[in-house]
Amino acid sequence: MRVTFVGVGEAFDEALPNTSLFLVGMTGERRRSVLLDCGFTAAAAFFSCAGVSEADRRDGPDAVWISHFHGDHFFGLPYLLARLQEQGRVRPLFVHGGEGVADKVATVTDLAYPNLRASLDFELRCITAWPGKPFAVAGFAAQAALTGHGAPCLGLRLTTRFGALYYGGDGAATAAGAELAAGCALVVQEGYGLEAGVAGHGSVPEALALAESAWAEALAVVHVRRELRRERGGEIGRQLAAASIRAFLPGPGDVFEV
Ligand SMILES: [Zn+2]
Ligand SMILES: [Zn+2]
Repeated sequence: MRVTFVGVGEAFDEALPNTSLFLVGMTGERRRSVLLDCGFTAAAAFFSCAGVSEADRRDGPDAVWISHFHGDHFFGLPYLLARLQEQGRVRPLFVHGGEGVADKVATVTDLAYPNLRASLDFELRCITAWPGKPFAVAGFAAQAALTGHGAPCLGLRLTTRFGALYYGGDGAATAAGAELAAGCALVVQEGYGLEAGVAGHGSVPEALALAESAWAEALAVVHVRRELRRERGGEIGRQLAAASIRAFLPGPGDVFEV
């Protein structure tokens, strides 16, 4: 499993692209890829991301996961679709997300480019994910659980042939999310604040507690509030480096491999 941090920023960080991960892994004998979240600035970051191969940037992911319907997590979709169309895509693109995903994807795409969906040379297939009900994303076994965010947000566990990933999207971890993080090779969790109690969001210590209690092998903290990341990023990095598990603050383009 190879996870590239396409973006690690919060919604309105002018320096760091919105949080978005590109996962490549094996399911059986097949290589498959998933883009996890695609916000305002994430699609552009994907096409220029040094950690993603040229072939993957040309062909795009097999599937896209949308954790929730905030702009910094799905407003990059029209860009992604139009760019893949220009790059000659013909194979279907699967977009997975919570309840209403088909309507949300249609609405944002039609607002951006009214004729785009009708003119795509590839099939755009939206599939609803339900918390607690196992499903598959690009062939990877998947499970989702609601997190503690202002909008309904799904944390996702993806199991590849060589290791599992938990990506918490936005919001503090919940008991159901913690269950999905259990034993993962990598937990990617937001740390919007430096201490617990930020409404609708998690924090660095809570992310650490989640990964440690889940016996995860590694933790990446993303979506840190921009002022904190800028002014106290070094301090946060040192705090994570001192943890009992491998924990880090990734930058855009960084790659985690197991
Ligand atoms: Zn966000
Ligand atoms: Zn959000």
